[in-house]
This record gives sequence, C-alpha cells and structure tokens, in this order.
Amino acid sequence: MKIKNIKTELKFIALKTPFITALRRVDTIEFVRVTVECDNGFIGIGEAPATKAITNEDVYDIMNSVWKIEEFLIEQSLAESLYILHANCEIGSSAKASLDMAIVSLQAQTKKQKLFEYLGAKETIELKTDITISYKKPHEMIESSRLALSNGMDILKIKVADDIKHAIEVTKSISSLFPDATLIIDANQAWNVEDSLNYIEAMKDVKIELIEQPVIAQDIQGLKEITQKSHIAILADEAVFSLLDAKKVIESKSADMINIKLMKCGGLTKAVEILEYAREMNVKCMLGSMLEGPYSINAALHLAMAYPDVIAYIDLDSPLLYKEVSNELDFKFDGSEIQYI
Ligand SMILES: [Mg+2]
Repeated sequence: MKIKNIKTELKFIALKTPFITALRRVDTIEFVRVTVECDNGFIGIGEAPATKAITNEDVYDIMNSVWKIEEFLIEQSLAESLYILHANCEIGSSAKASLDMAIVSLQAQTKKQKLFEYLGAKETIELKTDITISYKKPHEMIESSRLALSNGMDILKIKVADDIKHAIEVTKSISSLFPDATLIIDANQAWNVEDSLNYIEAMKDVKIELIEQPVIAQDIQGLKEITQKSHIAILADEAVFSLLDAKKVIESKSADMINIKLMKCGGLTKAVEILEYAREMNVKCMLGSMLEGPYSINAALHLAMAYPDVIAYIDLDSPLLYKEVSNELDFKFDGSEIQYI
C-alpha cells in the first residue's frame, strides 16, 4: 500500500466566546485539514491549527510545509513516509503532526484496528477533560467558572497573565467560591521566578492541583528553582516540545510533570515516544492541545485511552468551545466527561 495523493484544505470553526491567554486571543479556530489517500482507496485525515505564538506556524506555513514534503511521501509505503516525515528538519511540528496522524490512522486501518487499539488500548475508557477559563477581569472569570461548573465541568484551567495581583485575586476567589472544583493554573510563561514564588507563597492555604509553565520556555534554570521551592506541582508546557526537551526537563528535575501536545512534538508517533519515556521515568503527564479541529482532537483522545497510567490530566476541551457541536468527533462530550461513540 502506497500513498497516492495528499490534499490540504483550510478550515474554520467559530468559538462560543473568545479564548484569551497571556499569549493570544482567538475568536475562530483556523486549521489545515490534510487528507492522505492510498492506492487501495484507504483515507487518513489529520489536522493542524494555526498557533503562531507557540509553534511559530500559521495556516499558510502549515500548508506550505505539507506542499514542500508531499512529493517525497507520494509513492512511499506508510512506514517509509513516516520515516521521511520525521527525518525532515525544515518543516514545523504542527505540519508534521497533521501528516503523522493521518498516516498513523492509515496504519491502524491496514491492521483493521481502531486507532485506540492500534495505539495499545485494550478497551475504551471514559476520559475527563478540564475546561479553560480565559484570562479576563476577575468578575468575568468567576462568572465563566460558575457557568462551567453548572454545565458539569469540575476541572478548571485558569489562564492568568503577568499581573500577579490579578492572578492571586482570581485564584483565591474561584477557590473560595467553588471549593469542590479542581484548579489548574496556567501562566503561559508570563511570570519571572520572583513573581512565581510570590504567587506560590500567597497560595499556601489554597488548594491548587498544579501550576503550568510559570516562566518563559527557555528559562529551565528558573523553572527548576520554582519547582524545588514550590509546594504545588509544576508542569512544563512550552518548555517541552520534543522527547529531547522532555528528557532535559525530567532528568534535571526542572518540573514535576510535562504537557504533551501533538502539535508541539510532531504527532502521534512522537507523542508515543515521549509517553513511553515518561512511563519508564514514572513521570505523570498532561495530554494537551491547542485550539484544534475535530480530527486532531480525535487523535489525541484515542492516544489518551492507550496511556491512562501516564496521562494524569487531559486538556482537550476545544470541542466544548465550538459554537456548534461537531459531527466529525469520534467522542461525545458531556460536561467534562468524554465517551467514545
Ligand atoms: Mg499551557
């Protein structure tokens, strides 16, 4: 079986409300859908969203990357094409992820397996995602939290930014108003070491599950200092793209956990390598995503079912933010609970 054709399409999905973090604001998800067709008629679909602020790729960069590499993938077997894709140093991680998930789903089809079975899951399990509370004024974030909880979501990922006072106020208010909610704090690199330690100190009596990427990605030393002094678990997100990054952070004990995203590592093939390493090192992970379309969320959820012992947190809430429910999902979202359908 050989790859015969690769098609790219630009897609858009409107969001219910804007998504705002320390890094960006998004009203509509823009993504590239890649359809890989084989000579026996099998079709694999992958996607990659624009996340210039994180992976440095917009949708045009992603399409250009796919166009650049497609001539080397056509007429190749699936295994050869995956090898060629990941050996390429010129194209970005999101573009790689879109092609990788399409090709891996084709590999599953050739074995007559569902993607989760191919990735190692014996059976389907119910999964649970957090929901993002965008960075806004404190009273608006409290309202968003109230709404999320009333819609059956009890793990809140609270986006904070460089204003530490705001971050402390928001966290304390949400924690005291909604004591049963699990709180994940994501600073998206907005703080320095001093801010981070001040925030952590102020949270002595507040129950927080973890703090995500307090300092800039490159500041591994700062991240390590915070991790060593913090009573709250620290999770590295933007600091870890590849397996090499994961090894650096884990071996130097610079964070307690890492956030794996298909768009950062280059797809399912690479995410599996990081998850296998994390399993061996006994490090828990978050499986996260950008604001993504249904097929790339499907791929991540199939993967989550195969590594429940390693993936302690799932941050795959994009479908909950879509204005309209997608009929392209393999999963049904009910509040924070996710079931394979
Ligand atoms: Mg994050």
